[in-house]
Amino acid sequence: MSEASRYSVLFEPVQIGPVTARNRFFQVPHCNGMGHVRPQAEAAMRAMKAEGGWAVVSNQETEIHPTSDLSPFAENRLWDARDIPALRLMTEAVHDKGALAAIELVHNGNHAQNLFSRAPVLAPSDMSVSAAFPKQARAMDKSDIRDLRRWHREAAIRARDAGFDIIYVYAGHDMTLPQHFMLPHMNQRSDEYGGCLENRVRLTRELIEETHDAVGDTCAVAFRFAVDEMLGSDGMQAAEEGRAVVEMLAEMPDLWDVNVSNWANDSMTTRFQPQDGYQNDYTAFVKSVTSKPVVGVGRLTSPDTMVSLIRKGQLDLIGAARPSIADPFLPEKIREGRIDEIRECIGCNICVMADSVGAPIRCTQNPTMGEEWRRGWHPERIAPKAAQSDALVVGAGPAGLECAMQLARRGYQVTIAEASDAPGGRVLRESGLPGLGAWMRVADYRLNDLRQRGNVQIFTQSALSKEDVLELGIPNVFVATGSRWRADGIGRNTLRNPPKIAGNTTVLTPDDIMMGTHPSDGTVAIYDDDHAYIAGVLAEKLALDGHHVIFVTPESLVSSFTVLTLEQHRIQARLLELGVEIICNHTLSALNAEKMQIACCFTENIREIGCRSAVLVTERLRETALYDALQDQGLTTRELIGDAAGPALIADAVYAGHMAARNFERAQADINQDWFRREIISLAEGGTP
Ligand code: ADP
Ligand code: SF4
Repeated sequence: MSEASRYSVLFEPVQIGPVTARNRFFQVPHCNGMGHVRPQAEAAMRAMKAEGGWAVVSNQETEIHPTSDLSPFAENRLWDARDIPALRLMTEAVHDKGALAAIELVHNGNHAQNLFSRAPVLAPSDMSVSAAFPKQARAMDKSDIRDLRRWHREAAIRARDAGFDIIYVYAGHDMTLPQHFMLPHMNQRSDEYGGCLENRVRLTRELIEETHDAVGDTCAVAFRFAVDEMLGSDGMQAAEEGRAVVEMLAEMPDLWDVNVSNWANDSMTTRFQPQDGYQNDYTAFVKSVTSKPVVGVGRLTSPDTMVSLIRKGQLDLIGAARPSIADPFLPEKIREGRIDEIRECIGCNICVMADSVGAPIRCTQNPTMGEEWRRGWHPERIAPKAAQSDALVVGAGPAGLECAMQLARRGYQVTIAEASDAPGGRVLRESGLPGLGAWMRVADYRLNDLRQRGNVQIFTQSALSKEDVLELGIPNVFVATGSRWRADGIGRNTLRNPPKIAGNTTVLTPDDIMMGTHPSDGTVAIYDDDHAYIAGVLAEKLALDGHHVIFVTPESLVSSFTVLTLEQHRIQARLLELGVEIICNHTLSALNAEKMQIACCFTENIREIGCRSAVLVTERLRETALYDALQDQGLTTRELIGDAAGPALIADAVYAGHMAARNFERAQADINQDWFRREIISLAEGGTP
């Protein structure tokens, strides 16, 4: 069977109420840090998915009223008719590429803090706002509920007027009022909206009915529902009330969009859930209860898994947020049988991180994500070469590989030199750590592309010196030599008082452990002043290897940055389960062969912990020796990229490599002209729309 016919079931149209999806690929709503603040950027990003073959492209949670104000986060907004033009940018752009546009209407209840609107916060019962913020929501009375229903209905009409084809009622992620009403711990009401499940579902039922009534002749009504909270008997379970809700509402929506909550469960990282399709165990029952089409998610990137989900009758539509971010052209590549060209999501949640800090979306695998409008970047297209030049890329980590791949796509003759035995740089090293195997996809995707090109040569075991580079005679050199972890304990919290490290101490860095060095027997102390995932993952590895591990950090949580990737709670739990001793709020002050001396961040009181070796995870030193040596050597291009230019996330290294390749031989005046396009509020009409 040809690949195209093997996957043909994925390209059958699906009727969703009054509208028809051209195939089974459905980009479910996902946040992106653009929203009402950067609507042109969001429209262009969504349109790219439509161009890439998705049949339905959704926006993100769209606040229906000032009482659901998610500021300072940049979600979508439809408080009144003045918000329509910004949303219409997206529907027109998506329609232009042949896809349906869906909108996720939301009232966030006590998940909103209303910091911009300063409106009262609403909830089924009196309770705190969900964030650690000194504010409480008030129990909605009957008139509040009537108001909410009216706001939702009016927002649905505005959504239709903005051009949306599918309109969501949203009860998921532990973030929305309809779900809050369903959950007994959030709903202590004694009226017809509280008590038995029938009553707790009443609000949802009304919202679905009223949305149908308002716009159902032209728009489909989707219901997004988290069937299971993954809390066992402490929460909503697919086998019990989750199923009962689906049975009660089975034929009411035109489409069931089902998942698990909360967001950390729905968007599980590969570190904690490596399996694609991992939500099927929870959501598979839905199709047996309803005759309406069902869309589900679970980091689905394998077309074979997709086909099997359709054939087994578990889903009608293949839902994706992250796989569509990593590869907006996933459907097109499957349709054309270009399976090995799929840029697979690695499940790192750097996309989530950006939204969580209110910054525009980015992606480790797809450096063009979020740059469609402001830089005009296309994930599959890049300008052809400007001249007959050759390029040398030194270092085959994420930056070097991305730079080389894009230069090769532009048509340049590219030589890659890598010092070690195999390409991959930091992703090769890090992917050997527990749970990080998927990191290697960053290198694999690029190597697969590079190896099929006639204009690329890759050399390993080739540590280049200045003389080697000059001897090669290639005038354009991109230096992507990366960085190495420092061993002196200097980091953001020890800059003023560098730790005193005795000469006979066994100090290891993350590089040492990743390259196979084993700490001596006895306790290993890990000092983390980096706060991303590395120190936590090293603690996990060393504990699994049988070491007694003490984890010290100046932060109040282990791997605190990973709160933003939705996995901090899992990391800390895993370390505790493995017997790792955790000491927070302490900085490193001294170290010798027998003990580590640490100081309380608040009182500066000193404490000593016994250890035979220490792993210091603080900062990285840039590898710039080659770059420095190549100065004034007559090269046409000498550019430092990736971690060698500024150690950061893998996503940043890939981005830097991509940028360098795009800008190569581009007129300097164009590069200098502006960093990127910005969405600046025009005050020409007095600033009031
Ligand atoms: P980045 O994240 O910026 O891509 P990495 O540290 O992942 O950086 O990769 C840098 C790569 O460069 C490493 O694989 C390293 O072995 C290689 N490298 C460093 N110096 C040289 C050199 N002089 N010649 C060839 N390769 C080098
Ligand atoms: Fe996947 Fe990571 Fe890209 Fe998000 S940032 S889409 S998790 S590869």
